[in-house]
Amino acid sequence: MDRGDLPEQNPVDPTRGDGALSSDGPAVRVGEADARPPRDRAFFGHPLGLMTLFGTELWERFSYYGMRAILLYFLTDTIANGGLGLDDALGNAVVAAYGASVYLLSVIGGWLADRMIGARRSVLYGGVVIAAGHVSLSVPNASFSYLGIVLVALGTGLLKPNVSSMVGDLYSRDDVRRDSGFSIFYMGINIGSLFAPILVGIAREIGGYHAGFAVAAVGMAIALGFFVAGRHLLGGAGDVPPNPLTAADRPGVVRLVLAVAIGCLVALGIAALVSGGFTTTTLIDALSYIALAAPVATFWVMFRSPKVTDRERSRLRAYIPLFVAAMLFWMIFEQAASTLSAYARDNTELTIFGFEVSPAFFQSVNRASIILLAPVFAWLWVRLDDRPPTAVKFAIGLSFAALSFLFLAGASALAGDGKSPWWVLVVVYVIQTIGELCLSPVGLAATTLLAPRAFKGQAMALWFLATSAGNAITAQLVQATSGASPTAYFGGIGAVALVFAIAMFAIAPWVTRHIYEGTEVVGATRTAAH
Ligand code: GLN
Repeated sequence: MDRGDLPEQNPVDPTRGDGALSSDGPAVRVGEADARPPRDRAFFGHPLGLMTLFGTELWERFSYYGMRAILLYFLTDTIANGGLGLDDALGNAVVAAYGASVYLLSVIGGWLADRMIGARRSVLYGGVVIAAGHVSLSVPNASFSYLGIVLVALGTGLLKPNVSSMVGDLYSRDDVRRDSGFSIFYMGINIGSLFAPILVGIAREIGGYHAGFAVAAVGMAIALGFFVAGRHLLGGAGDVPPNPLTAADRPGVVRLVLAVAIGCLVALGIAALVSGGFTTTTLIDALSYIALAAPVATFWVMFRSPKVTDRERSRLRAYIPLFVAAMLFWMIFEQAASTLSAYARDNTELTIFGFEVSPAFFQSVNRASIILLAPVFAWLWVRLDDRPPTAVKFAIGLSFAALSFLFLAGASALAGDGKSPWWVLVVVYVIQTIGELCLSPVGLAATTLLAPRAFKGQAMALWFLATSAGNAITAQLVQATSGASPTAYFGGIGAVALVFAIAMFAIAPWVTRHIYEGTEVVGATRTAAH
């Protein structure tokens, strides 16, 4: 994606010398490190372990997005049709709250990996739990369905942050291939996500919702197969927790668990007060408050930890605005599963060149565009001589997300009481994809590099907490604005996001400076800042 992706590119800043030493880890002479050919180049010039993680995540995302493509329809369809019979506003809020919890649980997955079982075993156990969840969803019974979505959320929390941080583990801190490794990994994610809605959609047409969920279960079984068969290629990545618990840590852990439990109860209490009782809305609200509080708490714990060095703290400070931009980006992007799914079903003409398509079809547009546009972006970053730093890419990413909603607002105003033509949503998704390519793979790579060492898995969880918090905002917004026209809804969110994007452009130089100041290895500095 970047100029720094290219193996032949020397990332060392010539003005800064080649002898920068890393203070937290073995000393690295960057110039020397770059002069040696990278050892393991068996998978498209990358370590073979990337193939294992690529295949695992491809199939895990297949199962996740396959399930998610029909989740809203399943929740809101009538019971007679095999659905759960929720009304639309509640269905949208449940899907958003579900997205929030899936990514919220990354915190637990990241913590377990850092402190107890290591990333590799977290991925394995997470995969087993997800597979059990999809199998449970395949059973045509409402209780099994609810159990299934809970299991998928728990398992994804264990798997998702850790499979991503293991990609980072395949590269040394000064390895210029890190960004492009993440771009390849991201391609795997999107190949899986592209085919899932199509296959799951077809299975649903033929055999109903639970047949669709069964296809997702098969995908997850393949993911597990990939991971188990290819684990020996990982070169020990994720085998041991970076900051294992000691007996002396125990009282601290008990305090932490108590604080989290009390926090959850307080959130539930406030939600009960706000909604005047205990209903599904209470749970959704409580989840939203927790999802919004979790990143604040995680940042706080990291800033206060004695295991975090001053330089790491400087990088963390730079991470805060990146986090906010990512949160708003994912808030818009993740509405693919909720409000945009509803727009596809209710406000879009579903005939394309004479063919009737299922509304779930639109979910594949984003993935197809990623696969088509990723090489264009790789070319573009190379052509742009002064490649934009990470912070600017984030601002661009958020701007595109905002523009996608503003465009949809305009199109829905033009449609009036009628339906929008099919290409409107296609354009919306393509605009979002351009933003995603500026923000997401870059964000993953920057997270593995900017993470304090003792918080590897948890830093990756922090990245996914941006998605969780974004979903939490949506869960609140869809309830607060129920009854608003699509034009007002999408236009309002798009306008606010645009203001934040402009602010991000304004503070980008500060962010870049902090990343530079906080990074010891010059090669790493270049990759992180750019
Ligand atoms: N589409 C990407 C994935 O599924 C990004 C998800 C996210 O970070 N919100 O991994």
